[in-house]
Amino acid sequence: MRPWEKYIRQVDPYVPGEQPKLSNMIKLNTNENPYPPASEVQKAMQKVDVPALRMYPDPTSEDLVNALADTYHVNADQVFVGVGSDDVLGMAFLTFFGSSKPILFPDITYSFYDVWAKLYKIPYETPALDENFCIKKEDYYAENGGVVIANPNAPTSICENLDFIEDILQHNQDVVVIVDEAYIDFGGESAISLVEKYENLLVVQTFSKSRSMAGMRIGFAIGNSRLIKALNDVKYAYNSYTMSRLALQTGVASLKDVAYFEETCNKIITTRERVKKKMKDLGFSFPDSKTNFLFATHESVPAKELFLALREQNIFVRYFEKPRIDNYLRITIGTDEEMDCFLNFLESYLA
Ligand code: PMP
Repeated sequence: MRPWEKYIRQVDPYVPGEQPKLSNMIKLNTNENPYPPASEVQKAMQKVDVPALRMYPDPTSEDLVNALADTYHVNADQVFVGVGSDDVLGMAFLTFFGSSKPILFPDITYSFYDVWAKLYKIPYETPALDENFCIKKEDYYAENGGVVIANPNAPTSICENLDFIEDILQHNQDVVVIVDEAYIDFGGESAISLVEKYENLLVVQTFSKSRSMAGMRIGFAIGNSRLIKALNDVKYAYNSYTMSRLALQTGVASLKDVAYFEETCNKIITTRERVKKKMKDLGFSFPDSKTNFLFATHESVPAKELFLALREQNIFVRYFEKPRIDNYLRITIGTDEEMDCFLNFLESYLA
């Protein structure tokens, strides 16, 4: 070991789903949207002022913040934007979880939460989901340093209703409660309507799933203006220019096409419901997904075997070799054609 190596921070990184560089693959492993971004985004790309790229972007991201405030009927001082919701969530962990009491999030949830908790040395506890992978709300009544709930939860795909979220808020008025709504547009009800009532609620969403913009990296949070100010103070203490000129312009453009956004979300929901029926017939079971993915297990064939067999066909799904979920596959909903290929292969493999 070199002398300087003993000062290196040891961290266990988050492991993202793989991004294979194949041309002929069916990629159902990272919950991307199979449809392109709104045509307004293409137009905005063509209008990019390249010479202006010599200048820094607007550190306040004003145009995007205003467009989000209009879209979600809140004030601009209730909106924070970041480089994907990962950036927003990471910043929120750093900003709000300074208590010596443990923060709480489920044992099975987005696997970045414990990575940030360890990175920022935040104590945490992970109450177990019940045997149906549902959150037990009573677990969140205990004294704590903050609460993080993904709703719908990932990778389980289960969405709780607003009464459930409000119950958790009622029992946690002295700490910040983060509701991560990465998948809310595929059939859930957003907690944004509760931010006026609960000043300690931060709702986080992303352009990566329902707005087909994972490659542009845009996420946002909506909450009380005091929470947003605190987030911005931490952002300016770390990196003032998180959002590029390109991300700001295309993000604003994407929000303009409400009809396209609704149409693509509905298409994915329709495909999802069709795939659910077919997969049930093939012997799979899964929670009732309100996301753009299914979390499925087969009655006789192990998930790992299916994962590897699908991979052989260049069909990529996500498999987590983790306690309790190592017999499940997380399958992103693609286009109808992609899902037909996926189902046809399963049909012949399981025959
Ligand atoms: N939250 C959840 C629950 C997710 O599954 C993801 C996607 N990996 C994210 C947040 C982060 O997505 P992004 O940074 O692309 O907005």
